[in-house]
Amino acid sequence: MTRIKSRPPKRARSVEPPLERMESRVRDILKDLGEDPQREGLLHTPHRVAKSLRELTSGYRVDVDAMINGALFTESYNEMVLVRDISFYSLCEHHLLPFFGRAHVAYLPDQKIIGLSKIPKLVEIFARRLQVQERMTLQIAETLHDKLRPKGVAVVLEARHLCMEMRGAESHHSPTTTSCMLGVFQRDPRTRKEFLELVKSAAI
Ligand code: ZN
Repeated sequence: MTRIKSRPPKRARSVEPPLERMESRVRDILKDLGEDPQREGLLHTPHRVAKSLRELTSGYRVDVDAMINGALFTESYNEMVLVRDISFYSLCEHHLLPFFGRAHVAYLPDQKIIGLSKIPKLVEIFARRLQVQERMTLQIAETLHDKLRPKGVAVVLEARHLCMEMRGAESHHSPTTTSCMLGVFQRDPRTRKEFLELVKSAAI
């Protein structure tokens, strides 16, 4: 039996998706929806949709290793580093509809720290792909864990999913929370509690 590969590609794809081909496909979708792609309001829509899809999936084409490796520093600081309330916007891979919210990312360094601005950047790289919230949470945590070799990493994502809120008879407005605790955040309830208390007051 052949297993279908469900994991998305890990390596950055350097080639930009071809706009013209996407545009003609968007035009076909508009026709299938019963619309007239030639009417004034829709005339430039295929171009805009293709461009925005390319932008919203630009995370596939960023070299995560290069971005992180240039921003690692040796430091003896050994307290928790927390960046909270990082806004992100992503697309659910099941419906291509947005899910968006905030990420809270912490790590406990072990000789190495990362430039603070790289943490929101990392969140953005993984958000700008077709995603599920669970995988995005793991990817952020595992990347920091692999690159920094810290004592621990904690990531919490809170997000609203428009595929849940816009579709179906019932609308669900409560945000979905996912988390990934690695190392000391997994092992030590006190460290985990400290982190969770620090992020608790955050709201979308
Ligand atoms: Zn969805």
